[in-house]
Amino acid sequence: MSVQDSHVWVNRLSVHFGVGKGLLGGGGGVLKAVDEVSLEIPRGSFFGLVGESGSGKTTLGRAILKAAPITGGEVRYRDEDVDFDVGQMSKAELKEYRRRAQLIFQDPYAALSPRMTVRDIIAEPLEVMKLTKTREETDERVREIAAKCRLNLEHLRRFPHAFSGGQRQRISIARALVCEPKFLVADESVAALDVSIQADILNLLKSLQQEMDITFLFISHDLSVVAHICDYVAVMYLGAIVELAPSRELFAGPKHPYTKALLSAIPSLDPDDRGTAQKLEGEIPSPLNKPSGCRFHTRCPVAEARCASDVPAWRELSPGHRVACHFAE
Ligand code: SF4
Repeated sequence: MSVQDSHVWVNRLSVHFGVGKGLLGGGGGVLKAVDEVSLEIPRGSFFGLVGESGSGKTTLGRAILKAAPITGGEVRYRDEDVDFDVGQMSKAELKEYRRRAQLIFQDPYAALSPRMTVRDIIAEPLEVMKLTKTREETDERVREIAAKCRLNLEHLRRFPHAFSGGQRQRISIARALVCEPKFLVADESVAALDVSIQADILNLLKSLQQEMDITFLFISHDLSVVAHICDYVAVMYLGAIVELAPSRELFAGPKHPYTKALLSAIPSLDPDDRGTAQKLEGEIPSPLNKPSGCRFHTRCPVAEARCASDVPAWRELSPGHRVACHFAE
């Protein structure tokens, strides 16, 4: 997909941090949290980004939102009327980007100020960005978005502690949507919730996406959640994307051993499936000491000798299905 067809276009994006001696048990160096990542997020899509904790997915999401430093490569945000180079925006462009691109926080308990009413929590971004002129106009917008997020309007006068986890996440979503963004990063937005509430919030996000024409970057460690909702999935390991495909294709025929291992962790209802999966052993290595060759070779159940020395090419196997493994074919 070209930059013209993307809503968000990421080209060889890197986020590196200098690390002093003694931190993370190492002797200092460069922590490559995101290492030359390229992907395209189509307009109006639900784009999943999955990987274990420590894979760099949260940093990638934040760099796209310009909330983490871009140390290499490019992020472009395109809409009908704008084309922003996210790393090089003017003050006015950044202000507009902050309105159009929002984050839904991971933890609905920590994200909401306990001293503010639900009305004030939802209204705050409107007031900070000066998008409404009168209190009546603000209240009208708050009521409108609260109703879309299926919040009871009676609840707007209450404080967050009065609500359950699912209701608090609805408040977080309403806050993220009140400025009518076009691009939302949802970072582990259902991870802290019970399974039945998760399904409820996922259905809400999907219906809001269609109703408000929003593009989503949905970050999760849980492939089963991503399968439920996403149109495309990128699988991230140790700072890099190792496989990217339309969701159905990825789940029907994963090519990378890491994707297969993540899929095998999803409990299967089919007795014939059990025991045939590739299991993932060990911990993800430190991004300070990335393995040579294929970055997955220290844990890969099918690694061969060349995997420790040769970096696998990132290549397209079929339209839209890309992978980095020597033996993907
Ligand atoms: Fe495994 Fe080798 Fe493929 Fe890397 S290149 S995923 S180590 S088989």
